[in-house]
Amino acid sequence: MSSISDPLPLTARETLNGDILPLTNNLMLQVLGNPRGNYDQSCQSVTNLTIRKLIVTENVGPFRVTGLKPVVDKLRLALADVKDELPNVHSVLGNAGMLCVRLVRNSKTSISNHSWGCAIDFTLEGKLDARGDNKAQKGLIAMHPIMNRHDFYWGASFRTEDSMHFEISRQQMLAWQKEGAFGQASPLPEEATSISVGDRGPEVEWIQERLNILNGFDVEEDGIFGPATRASVIEFQRIHGLKADGVVGPETTKALKNAEAQ
Ligand SMILES: [Zn+2]
Repeated sequence: MSSISDPLPLTARETLNGDILPLTNNLMLQVLGNPRGNYDQSCQSVTNLTIRKLIVTENVGPFRVTGLKPVVDKLRLALADVKDELPNVHSVLGNAGMLCVRLVRNSKTSISNHSWGCAIDFTLEGKLDARGDNKAQKGLIAMHPIMNRHDFYWGASFRTEDSMHFEISRQQMLAWQKEGAFGQASPLPEEATSISVGDRGPEVEWIQERLNILNGFDVEEDGIFGPATRASVIEFQRIHGLKADGVVGPETTKALKNAEAQ
């Protein structure tokens, strides 16, 4: 018995999205800022108040989702078309999660696009598509052109195949930014009081740049707060008579801003 949730091999999976491009961390940090100050593999909450204001929980047809308002609206339209054109797929479609602030699975640095509520994972007949096997459930293969038409990128083309996953396209995100759909981007999580090991983003890059300029450290300015950055922060704190704990709090931030190059 063949079922809509059975996986089929994908051919030329890199080309399945046509001209539609995925989101990148750089783009999302520039458009919306960091959802929170630190990440791991578990689902955490959004602490950036600017982003939080854009998050809604709404019905999109077959289920309710929590995600970024404009993406949720697009998803509702896309799923209405899935209902019209593929009622047998629509009737067994489930939601395995939209908003979830975490790193990409098995990554130490890449932020998942679920972190901004811009991606959704689907189930069919309650089953998840297996990741990384270069196969996709039949129902997902059938509905992906409809999702593409509504500016969703299919994760089947990711370097590690992730066919349960759809995310809003880079093009759509840029168009919304141009329209001013998100208001003012806020690069720093407003509730963050300190930055330390495990954090990443533009504010970490700024810290690394200041460490290098002020004290001639040789920290890679990659925006990732790792052991080398921590060691340089501790050294900087010692030099400036601050508590040498490797955590960039208000005092250390002030010193980084105001200190003269040595
Ligand atoms: Zn996903």
